[in-house]
Amino acid sequence: MARGASLAVSAALALTACSAAVSGSTDRPDPEVTATQPLPGPEDADEGGTRAPSADEEQPSSDTGEPDGPLSDMTVVIDPGHNGGNAEAGEKISRSVPAGPQEKECDTVGAETGDGYAEHEFTWDFSKRLRDHLEAEGASVILTRDDNESVGPCINERAEIGNEAAADAAISIHADGSSSDVRGFHVIAPGMVDGYTDDIVEPSRQLAEDVRDEFHKGSGHPYSDYLGDEGIDQRTDLGGLNMSDVPKVFLEVGNMRNADDAENIRDKDWRERASGAAANGIARYLSRG
Ligand SMILES: [Zn+2]
Repeated sequence: MARGASLAVSAALALTACSAAVSGSTDRPDPEVTATQPLPGPEDADEGGTRAPSADEEQPSSDTGEPDGPLSDMTVVIDPGHNGGNAEAGEKISRSVPAGPQEKECDTVGAETGDGYAEHEFTWDFSKRLRDHLEAEGASVILTRDDNESVGPCINERAEIGNEAAADAAISIHADGSSSDVRGFHVIAPGMVDGYTDDIVEPSRQLAEDVRDEFHKGSGHPYSDYLGDEGIDQRTDLGGLNMSDVPKVFLEVGNMRNADDAENIRDKDWRERASGAAANGIARYLSRG
């Protein structure tokens, strides 16, 4: 496969830009959507979505579609949340799309750290690292977007990419934008939505637990102290989950507005370590057969 191709405190939830923005369920204007245009992260010059082709040529298995490794029969779809062009495409991303029993916004701008490191920049970098970890184990990996400068795709299209690939697992990568005094990561699993998530609730819960356990161990981030229960939240309002026909979770790696979480999120070494931990969680789920 080509690689191109709870118990939430209500106040905190309202401030949770990332989740609220994705869900589109809040009545109040999302402060992150109207935030200043995201600035490029100074330490993230890498804009390439792929690694050097010469590396692949020296490993024939990489391009044959039959890579070696424990995950060689597995297809994983990674969805890097948001996109760099969204801030300039308000009308396009605010249009309504199918998101389950109701419609939601196509996509959102996402959160950012206090000093302007944008969520879309983070999710793009983290997702490529996650892809590399999984490909090293032999998995076929598809990203839902090819760069960090374009618009969308819409949340339903992001889910559809996983469906069309008949992915063995799918994961959306995000980082939250809540108030600065709360922190930690959580994994969002789909709740039961009749006619939509019936077929994925159970395996997605297992995927969420495996990703939760490994990410907690490898990233050093604590469980969220403002959303979910021991690092797992269950939601029925996210189009990216409701429209999925394959096991899928969202990983919210931390709160970009919290200084401790943001310090890690901005750190390449942490991103490498934490993406490896997420890959271990996905691999653990896939190894269950
Ligand atoms: Zn997000």
